Amino acid sequence: MAWDFETDPEFQAKLDWANTFVREEVEPLDLVFPHQQFVPLDGARRKIIDPLKAEVRKQGLWATHLGPDLGGQGFGQLKLALLNEILGRSSWAPIVFGCQAPDTGNAEIIAHFGTDEQKERYLRPLLEGEVFSSYSMTEPQAGADPAQFTTRAVRDGDDWVINGWKFFSSNAKTASFLIVMVVTDPDVSAYKGMSMFLVPTDTPGVEIVRNVGLYGEPMNGGSHALIHYNDVRVPNSALLGGAGQAFAIAQTRLGGGRIHHAMRTIGLAQKAIDMMCERALSRETAGSKLSDKQFVQGYIADSYAQLVQFRLFVLYTAWEIDKYNDYKKVRKDIATAKIVMPTVLHDIAWRAMQVHGALGTTNEMPFFTMIHGAGVMGLADGPTEVHKGTVAKQVLRDYEPTDDVWPTEWIPRKQEAARAKFAEYLEHEVGNL
Ligand SMILES: Cc1cc2nc3c(=O)[nH]c(=O)nc-3n(C[C@H](O)[C@H](O)[C@H](O)COP(=O)(O)OP(=O)(O)OC[C@H]3O[C@@H](n4cnc5c(N)ncnc54)[C@H](O)[C@@H]3O)c2cc1C
Repeated sequence: MAWDFETDPEFQAKLDWANTFVREEVEPLDLVFPHQQFVPLDGARRKIIDPLKAEVRKQGLWATHLGPDLGGQGFGQLKLALLNEILGRSSWAPIVFGCQAPDTGNAEIIAHFGTDEQKERYLRPLLEGEVFSSYSMTEPQAGADPAQFTTRAVRDGDDWVINGWKFFSSNAKTASFLIVMVVTDPDVSAYKGMSMFLVPTDTPGVEIVRNVGLYGEPMNGGSHALIHYNDVRVPNSALLGGAGQAFAIAQTRLGGGRIHHAMRTIGLAQKAIDMMCERALSRETAGSKLSDKQFVQGYIADSYAQLVQFRLFVLYTAWEIDKYNDYKKVRKDIATAKIVMPTVLHDIAWRAMQVHGALGTTNEMPFFTMIHGAGVMGLADGPTEVHKGTVAKQVLRDYEPTDDVWPTEWIPRKQEAARAKFAEYLEHEVGNL
């Protein structure tokens, strides 16, 4: 019977190496080069980061999300989950290991749906870790409901001409190309009338109007672009996966992306627990250590319980993806992990902040960044509420309504049936009561 929670010793040795490497070599990058992960390398950054990437390649841990045919290791999602837990501690770690979002998802769909020419032009440099990409789907007036997207591509001879607005395209300002999801046939449902195009960022008419900043980023110096596509002309060969295929492609992309975020979130939440425990054991007040106070013990126990449940569920979901090799079959569980993730990170980071007192609320500790990260996780790749709807619908599929006024589990009727079933034996007992 195969039901096993052990990591094979060979891979565990790699994880141990990654753990030390991330803590000692990569986490310091977060402090000297904050918000610069997606800026193409030059100068001092290249001198520092290229050798680190070379170390990762030497260990066989580069781009582990992809199969060997695409330059990765083909480890599968379960091993990737164990590695991503470690990488989640640091913003730079996914870059140094060649598996950063949103490039992983973008690479995945080009690998699945791209032509040989598209793979050569876009996928290969992406996998080399030399360029960045951006996914341009959300619009200013509509995010969670793609049926409301209006940005259009119209056929003109051998070309397509794109017009409209896109919002929150991550890293567009430093990306070398965009994957843009647009309406190509407004006369059919959005699920059949939208297509994806590969558009080099320097194509005439691609205008970044504003770089919206997340918490901690400067105003108009942020990482999420508001883009105006103004008569952007691309050849038919820029179409990814055929006209009308955007929804099918998006599901492939977002399935992987969501679970990868969940894997990294485990690492971040564990980091918050580590900090909370160290502080609890170190700080003394009102005659005892914080770790002796029952409220603080409650914080620690609740955090451990939340994280261990989440972690096991994410690992299980990763295992399912490897087993079925079909995101559709695992959709319910990926969405469930997506729902749970913001709450787990929020709750644990909040408790860790509280245990640190005033210091916890400052920009000298990372807790607010984590709490903000939890908020982001509730929106990026779709709002929690939408995913709850998905999960509920999938759960309900396994049930049938009853046309009886009393529920199936109504005790009086079941009791009567049980008595009838055992009547022959009960008659005597009842008679004796
Ligand atoms: C950090 C970050 C990075 C992102 N990166 C990208 C990117 O690279 N490319 C890209 O295209 N987009 C990106 N997005 C956008 C993201 O996909 C959208 O924010 C998301 O789909 C929600 O769309 P919206 O913001 O327009 O919110 P809306 O669609 O306006 O929804 C607002 C709120 O309404 C409620 N709501 C919406 N729909 C429902 C429903 N069906 N049932 C119940 N309640 C509902 C929820 O509370 C929801 O949070 C990113 C977002 C963030 C925060």
